[in-house]
Amino acid sequence: MKYDAPIQDMLFLLNEWIGIDRLTSLPGYEEVDADLVEAILEEAGKFASTELLTINREGDEHGAVFEDGSVRTPPGFKEAYTQFIENGWTGIDADPDHGGQGLPTLLQNFIDEIIGATNVSFKLYCELSHGAYHLIDHAASDEIRELYLPKMVEGTWSGTMCLTEPQCGTDLGLLNTKAEANSDGTYKISGAKIFVSSGDHDLTENILHLVIARIDGAPAGTRGISLFLVPKFLVNDDGSLGERNEVHTASIEHKMGIRASATCTLNFDGAKGYLIGEENRGLAAMFKMMNIERITVGLQGLGMSEIAYQNALDYAQERTQSKAPAPRPDDSKPADPIIFQPEMQRQLLTIRSQVEGARAMAVYAALNVDIMERSTDEAAVADAQNLVALFTPVIKAHFSDLGMSSTLSAQQIFGGHGYVREHGMEQLVRDCRIAPIYEGTNEVQAIDLVARKLTGKTGEFASRFMDDWQKYLAEHANDEDLATLVRPAAAALQSLIETTGWVRDKLQSDEATARGAASQYLRLFALTIIACFWVQVIVSIRDKSGAFYDMKRKVAHFYMQQVLPETAAIATTIVNGAEALANISVDELTG
Ligand SMILES: Cc1cc2nc3c(=O)[nH]c(=O)nc-3n(C[C@H](O)[C@H](O)[C@H](O)COP(=O)(O)OP(=O)(O)OC[C@H]3O[C@@H](n4cnc5c(N)ncnc54)[C@H](O)[C@@H]3O)c2cc1C
Repeated sequence: MKYDAPIQDMLFLLNEWIGIDRLTSLPGYEEVDADLVEAILEEAGKFASTELLTINREGDEHGAVFEDGSVRTPPGFKEAYTQFIENGWTGIDADPDHGGQGLPTLLQNFIDEIIGATNVSFKLYCELSHGAYHLIDHAASDEIRELYLPKMVEGTWSGTMCLTEPQCGTDLGLLNTKAEANSDGTYKISGAKIFVSSGDHDLTENILHLVIARIDGAPAGTRGISLFLVPKFLVNDDGSLGERNEVHTASIEHKMGIRASATCTLNFDGAKGYLIGEENRGLAAMFKMMNIERITVGLQGLGMSEIAYQNALDYAQERTQSKAPAPRPDDSKPADPIIFQPEMQRQLLTIRSQVEGARAMAVYAALNVDIMERSTDEAAVADAQNLVALFTPVIKAHFSDLGMSSTLSAQQIFGGHGYVREHGMEQLVRDCRIAPIYEGTNEVQAIDLVARKLTGKTGEFASRFMDDWQKYLAEHANDEDLATLVRPAAAALQSLIETTGWVRDKLQSDEATARGAASQYLRLFALTIIACFWVQVIVSIRDKSGAFYDMKRKVAHFYMQQVLPETAAIATTIVNGAEALANISVDELTG
């Protein structure tokens, strides 16, 4: 398996489409420049395609091992992690006050895509820590931040997210884990958490669990959830490690994929915990981490689509089978490389056109995270917050679905050789499968989009966002050079706007119908908005010539002709299919 980080595309989107000055004009990013970004991406690409990709296969075969109450990561993981922290990858977007580099989220997200492409299991050990760092930085007291965060940035302590319990998955209000106040202001945490990624391992000296629990007497449901920091080893005031806390690993899961990532059941047996933020406001604080993780899970799908594409493209050039339709590349040969089969080209371009469009969407979202966190312009911050809120469920769900469709399609290009282990394509499919499930299933993301992000302030923003695109496309409507892009994008956008109105009406009059359409609506939204981004990308290069730009135009055209038309069917299904869904009751379904 090979991987070349798509640095050219990343730099193109940043420098030529977005314009790096939109980042460097933000307070704190004045020192960032194109050379620095390129140098960091080159290093990330090198590290990922050598160190991380090399141990990915063995990680899958060996898996994480649970022995004598502790988890051991597969061979090579410790060495790679040591290099990872020595090279400073744990502090890219962390605060310089904690030893971080204070670089943009946009750069962090590029790195996340690169690492996710080459070794998702390894990424999970780092990505939960990254989210935990930002949550603690956002919500904890100064004392806790000073004591814990430098070690997290250094990479010697890691973090986890402990939400799920056997009876409490999507619905966190059902949690049973209890917190009992101690006389010294700390809490005694008791309960069992399951499916905790990186819940135990041998990569770091300490593990900081972020645990949601209900304080004695707190209201039922999500209004009574508080958030606690529960270290594996208690930390003394001087930052040294103290005694072992009462949190123990009971087992790890045996899974379809990401086998090198330890998915743990943790027992909290009266463990000492520190309240983060206010009592009963734990879920709101937790969302800081969950939103970061949702985007990074989306980037995982994007990265895995990219590596799947690259390997399928290579294989399609090497594998000779059947004669290609005329004109053949070489009439003297008994068979041609399968890349000359239009069907193979179509499958490859379907991945590529979606990946490049999705990457543009990801860049735009990351820019808005940076604006939201750094800008001093209040109106710009408010818009950026709304944009990020609107895009987060879309990126999580659409990109992870894209990861599945891309890895399956790339596996198909390998034929039977993709089904067997040799080329690593079946591992990609297995490793990718978790992305639509964890971090809030894709169904739950769709409901978040429809029920929360289309309503209230974000809903008002969403309408303005779509209207702005409509104006933008109208401005380019008479440009014949762009007609093959603008017309389909404008038609899809019109349909999205109409369907949004229909979904909003249903939310008021018939919520079940709106919810029944949520996943389809999310796909319609994503495919359409990516089409709009594609138009804007092509407009930005209209005076440029050369192979890279010519191919961009052709890939954009492919997206409009071969991918976007699905939106017409989705819009029809949402509106015309609602009755068929409502028509069958649960009794009939189960009868
Ligand atoms: C490998 C792995 C790693 C994980 N890592 C972590 C971790 O680090 N920390 C952590 O806390 N958890 C973690 N999880 C848990 C993961 O986030 C949950 O599995 C996920 O949120 C779904 O919960 P559930 O499995 O209980 O499914 P359920 O909640 O039981 O859902 C089952 C099905 O019902 C659907 N459904 C449920 N409610 C609704 C609804 N309101 N509307 C529409 N459909 C609905 C779901 O979409 C799903 O298809 C991990 C899980 C796995 C497998």
